[in-house]
Amino acid sequence: MKHLIDIKHLTNDEILQITELASYYEDHVPYGTQKKKQAGSVALLFFENSTRTRFSFEMASKKLGFSAFNFDAQKSSILKGEGFFDTLNNLNAIGCDIAVIRHSKEGFIEELAKNEYSYGLSLVNAGEGKASHPTQALLDFYTLKKHLKTVENKKIVIVGDIIHSRVAKSNIELLNRFGAHVVCCSPSYFEDWTLTSAKYEPNLKTALKDADAVMGLRIQKERIETRVPYAQYIEDYQINETNLPQSAILMHPGPVNRDVEISGALLDSDKGKVIIEQARNGVFVRMAVLDLIYEGVKR
Ligand code: ASP
Repeated sequence: MKHLIDIKHLTNDEILQITELASYYEDHVPYGTQKKKQAGSVALLFFENSTRTRFSFEMASKKLGFSAFNFDAQKSSILKGEGFFDTLNNLNAIGCDIAVIRHSKEGFIEELAKNEYSYGLSLVNAGEGKASHPTQALLDFYTLKKHLKTVENKKIVIVGDIIHSRVAKSNIELLNRFGAHVVCCSPSYFEDWTLTSAKYEPNLKTALKDADAVMGLRIQKERIETRVPYAQYIEDYQINETNLPQSAILMHPGPVNRDVEISGALLDSDKGKVIIEQARNGVFVRMAVLDLIYEGVKR
């Protein structure tokens, strides 16, 4: 694996290899300690806001014994007019082996990956526009497997702003590959008509019936130009203590807008704990991704 750009570039075996290595790290790297390893340098280039993903990649890098460097776009030479490829090539020459990139432009990271970098830089997609967020899908898969053992024949319901969600797109792609029944539930203004690979059910109660896992999504305010009817949305689509099936696990990629997509009371109950566990699992999964990329490329 030289880069990680999209779930579609990974084979099922590679996905399972990532979850197995993540599980190894979860068991063998106690929280708060570092694995001693002679290793590489990771540049974190985030052009959209992030808390979990950026910290998670930084934590994963440090636990592996890698160095992690945060790129400050506002103070960088990109503002002096330097092109992105030239910036990456220079960071690579300075010693960065892997660039973890978050950007709003879809297809941007794949374009960058077509370039030859002087010292073989690897690129990792940390969330790209509305299109893809592969490491989120991998950590969600890891979390689902921990709770449900397998996703095969499990009903996984994704609720909310599907059309603007890169998390939904990457999850649907991955979960379909492993035999899950994915159902998307949203008002029509958040439905993605191009998504033919998941069932669509507009009624929340019907969608949630017999669900094994329910994933809430944040309304992506930063990608929406029209007004969202919040009060009606909350009334029809909020996941709460009364509509979440007892047996279903509750997930959310974060950040959660409390009392919008999920009620505060549900978040504060035992059901809310898996969402925090997702953030924790993300570190192990990203360790696995960085490790496989670093080991996979003969440096
Ligand atoms: N953190 C996730 C993302 O970057 C979900 C969200 O922002 O709502 O896509």
